[in-house]
Amino acid sequence: MAEVIVAGGGVSGIAAAITSSSLGSRVTLLEESERIGVRKSDFQRVLQFGEKAVKSTDPEELKVRFGIAIRLREKVVSADTNKRVVETSREKLRYDSLIIATGASPVPETTRGISKKRAYLMNSLSDYSGLSRDLGNLSTVVILGSTPLALTLAEFLAKKKMRVTVFSTSLLSPYLSAPIQGILTERLKMNGVRIVESAVDSIAGMEKVEAVVSGGTVYPCEAVVAFPRTVPKIPRIGLRLGNFGGILVDKMMKTSQPSVFAAGDCAEIQVGISSSPLRLQSAAKVMGEVAGANAAGRSEVAHLSGTLGFVAFGLEFCAAGQTLEEATRAGFDAGEFTYSEAGRERDSDSNILSCSLVYDRNSHVLYGVQMAGWRGLSYADFASLAVSMNVRLEDLAYLESCFVPMISGDESPVATTAKKALSSAR
Ligand SMILES: Cc1cc2nc3c(=O)[nH]c(=O)nc-3n(C[C@H](O)[C@H](O)[C@H](O)COP(=O)(O)OP(=O)(O)OC[C@H]3O[C@@H](n4cnc5c(N)ncnc54)[C@H](O)[C@@H]3O)c2cc1C
Repeated sequence: MAEVIVAGGGVSGIAAAITSSSLGSRVTLLEESERIGVRKSDFQRVLQFGEKAVKSTDPEELKVRFGIAIRLREKVVSADTNKRVVETSREKLRYDSLIIATGASPVPETTRGISKKRAYLMNSLSDYSGLSRDLGNLSTVVILGSTPLALTLAEFLAKKKMRVTVFSTSLLSPYLSAPIQGILTERLKMNGVRIVESAVDSIAGMEKVEAVVSGGTVYPCEAVVAFPRTVPKIPRIGLRLGNFGGILVDKMMKTSQPSVFAAGDCAEIQVGISSSPLRLQSAAKVMGEVAGANAAGRSEVAHLSGTLGFVAFGLEFCAAGQTLEEATRAGFDAGEFTYSEAGRERDSDSNILSCSLVYDRNSHVLYGVQMAGWRGLSYADFASLAVSMNVRLEDLAYLESCFVPMISGDESPVATTAKKALSSAR
């Protein structure tokens, strides 16, 4: 029976442990904290529903249902990949396969004045609880951060009648094409959220926050909420890293060392001449499952696209794969085409649906899809599949899609966009 050690009990580590154990491995999961399976994606729900809104996993259930040995408060410090031995904060353990699923941790925020009262750094669950307690006393809030966390909070606060300004130099660009960003920015403005596309230089005030300063302009406010950037957290193993500091993995989640796999936020997948950190729960789960299966001797391949979806004031957005900027950075000769259409049987102000396709100019292979508007989220799984299966514009242009009178048009907006992209390329 293969001896599999999983470092980290987040989404990816648990998916890896369950999959590997279900395929016959003897699995030990090591987690440095006292809880496993804490859903970070639930953190924002704390503002509405309190800490009970955050789901976690019962270690006992994993033991009983899957026979996984769970060791809490035990940190994986390093590994000797020649001897196949892991060193933990307690002892040395031998493995046949090792899965690193240690996630990412926040980069310390350095903005001057960040330690003032009513500057909230959103690093952990208790930070969300702290903000939740003070919300009733705030009316003017500045948010520092990017999509989708900053926007979700902006909407939540704006609906509570607070005046909200979001400062970000990269609010939308990591995920969305310029035209789709434009739609989102317009939506936020329409609903009273101010966007300032520059960095905050300092936070001003005597003891507590009174204003932020950006590019010489003073913006009065009562509170600042800062979402941190994160960096991969990696034990000392000597693995090859990608462009963004994560453990470089292939589609089988193999690292540069034999019998060592990596999954989730600590890992980064090769894309062309670059690499891409996915840092999404959806990707972490699939990466964990594939790492777990392959640690148990299988040859599974992950189909990853970094699919993201969110709703901004009722308007739906989804994005899968790469933006034009990312595809170009990866060394591809990429082009982008956006098409918007209005006027089907749709309700009022969410009447428009826009689609951006990013593709290879020569082969027409699809690199990215972004949708905004009416039922935009319903395209998320389709976009993920299309991108991860490397379909071409021609495949999309002549794809049959479901027709429902009064609800859909007689052609998918993705097919329409692909046809128009092809004719513009001729
Ligand atoms: C506020 C917030 C909202 C989010 N919302 C969404 C969303 O809506 N949709 C989405 O797809 N994604 C979302 N994400 C991202 C998603 O939560 C992460 O991508 C996902 O949690 C990554 O899972 P992971 O298992 O790789 O890492 P983690 O969840 O970080 O788990 C890593 C685990 O490893 C443990 N660990 C670390 N180092 C060691 C060590 N040396 N030894 C032993 N254990 C160790 C940690 O304690 C932790 O339990 C959100 C993230 C945040 C912070």
